[in-house]
Amino acid sequence: MIMSAANLTLTVALFIAWSICGVVNPDYATEYEGALVTYLPVEHGMSFQLSGFIFSSQESQHNGMILHEYGHYLQQQDMGFDTYAITVGVPSIVSSAISKIHHAITGEWGDYYLLPWEADANRRAKDTL
Ligand SMILES: [Zn+2]
Repeated sequence: MIMSAANLTLTVALFIAWSICGVVNPDYATEYEGALVTYLPVEHGMSFQLSGFIFSSQESQHNGMILHEYGHYLQQQDMGFDTYAITVGVPSIVSSAISKIHHAITGEWGDYYLLPWEADANRRAKDTL
């Protein structure tokens, strides 16, 4: 029940954010295979998917990031909000933070996209091509 309320609240908030970005610049709010995509002026590589909304940096229009996030959209459709939030969302946030710390210390990016939930997103997205 709490998770359902959180999902509904987030969905409304994300839709409002997508709509506002589309009013500001129609190129910033698009759609990919049923997912609503918003491009933001944020650091390259920052992106996330939740409940069919993809938020990503403007540079990601030209790389595979939207396809990767679409894979997360397919994960959530398959798993449902609760399981997705617990098995993909939380591990992604934690591992992304660890990855950034690792990069700050070593100057190198780790193998973030080889983590099971990230590799699974890529596999699901590529299966649709
Ligand atoms: Zn990911």
